[in-house]
Amino acid sequence: MGKFPIAERHYARKVVCMKCKALNPKGAVRCRKCDYPSLRPKRARKKEGK
Ligand SMILES: [Zn+2]
Repeated sequence: MGKFPIAERHYARKVVCMKCKALNPKGAVRCRKCDYPSLRPKRARKKEGK
């Protein structure tokens, strides 16, 4: 574990609409629910461990 950073990003493969908070696949330009153009990565923490 550690040689596959892709696996660690497993949870970051989705984005959340900042308006309706619907889950969208990463890479989506707009929310497919409300068509809002601002999407955030689901894993949006202030600090990551260190
Ligand atoms: Zn939305």
